[in-house]
Amino acid sequence: MAIQETDPCLNFRAIREELNTALKEAGRDHHDLAITAITKTHAPGQILPLLEAGHRIFGENRVQEAQKKWPALREKYPDIELHLVGPLQSNKAGDAVQLFDVIETVDRSKIARTLAAACEKYARRPEFYVQVNTGEEPQKAGVGPGGADAFIAQCKNGHGLTIDGLMCIPPAGEAPAPHFALLRKIAVRNGLKKLSMGMSGDYIIAAQMGATSVRIGSAIFGARMPRQ
Ligand SMILES: *Cc1c(COP(=O)(O)O)cnc(C)c1O
Repeated sequence: MAIQETDPCLNFRAIREELNTALKEAGRDHHDLAITAITKTHAPGQILPLLEAGHRIFGENRVQEAQKKWPALREKYPDIELHLVGPLQSNKAGDAVQLFDVIETVDRSKIARTLAAACEKYARRPEFYVQVNTGEEPQKAGVGPGGADAFIAQCKNGHGLTIDGLMCIPPAGEAPAPHFALLRKIAVRNGLKKLSMGMSGDYIIAAQMGATSVRIGSAIFGARMPRQ
């Protein structure tokens, strides 16, 4: 079998440099964009080199997988910032509030209400982003772009859940730029500062279009093995 040649730290550094160049060209400061390293399916052994190199911002898409992996890593690196980037079920809201620092996938009233209650219960307040289904794909999570303003207002005024930003996943096989532009427009008119957009295939475009975080998995860690 071939030796695994992927060094996540080398990949990370190359991506960071590419991003910094793109940000500079766009007249943006490199501090204004963070890389969320997406570690779903990857074991702690694959994540540790990045932690040892000083990176602290990571993302998972399943609560249960994150619960198995991150508490032990946090004991060693208490300043880890962990993002939830996958769909959240109401019965996992309490676990999510205790474990994550940013929950990027608020997309319906029931989950907003449950998250607000969990914040009270655990006296913890992660950042919350609303996921917007910019392509209005029926199989994809997120609020439709037409309902986003009302939902953001309802989170705050109806459920007591302050929203900090927006997140989107553009449809596969479509140019991402119009989706990023739409997300940014919704953020601006709602006074939201955080924009989570851009993945391994389109992080440069996202950086040019105002992303404050890009979610990068395979370009750092290599292709993911299928889940068992
Ligand atoms: C897996 C995942 C990513 C990372 O995808 P890559 O293409 O491997 O960079 C980003 N965002 C979400 C929501 C994901 O589930």
